[in-house]
Amino acid sequence: MKILKIDHIGIAVKNLAESSRLYEILGIPRAGVEEVAEQKVKVSFFPVGDSEIELLESTSPDGPIARYIEKNGEGIQHMALRVDDLEAALAELKAKGVRLIDEKPRYGAGGAKIAFVHPKSTGGILLELCER
Ligand code: ZN
Repeated sequence: MKILKIDHIGIAVKNLAESSRLYEILGIPRAGVEEVAEQKVKVSFFPVGDSEIELLESTSPDGPIARYIEKNGEGIQHMALRVDDLEAALAELKAKGVRLIDEKPRYGAGGAKIAFVHPKSTGGILLELCER
C-alpha cells in the first residue's frame, strides 16, 4: 500500500452556500459543486495547495451527513488519504486486522473510488481512502 498524500478534509455543513462564504473570503476558488446521490450529499471542493477542503451538505434527513450533524454538530467529519491502488490497500488493511466500513471501493465525488475505514480502528477518526 502506498499513501500518496492527504487528499482532502471532509467538513459536514448544514448549508453549502452559507459555509462556502468563508472559503470565498479566504480567497480559495470553488472547484465546483456535485451531488453524490448514493451518499445523499451535495459536495463542494475548495483546492488548497495539493489538497482540498470538501464541504458536504446532506440532501436527505436520513443521509450519513445529516445523521453526523444531528449527533456531533457541524465540523470535520472525515480525513481522506489518497492511495495508488485502493483495492490493494483494502486487502492489506483487512489482512492486518484493521476494521473497514467498505471492503470494496464505491463511487465518490469527482469520479474517485473511495472506501471508509472504521473509526474504531483509527482512534476515532473516520478515515477515507481514495484513488483518483
Ligand atoms: Zn471525502
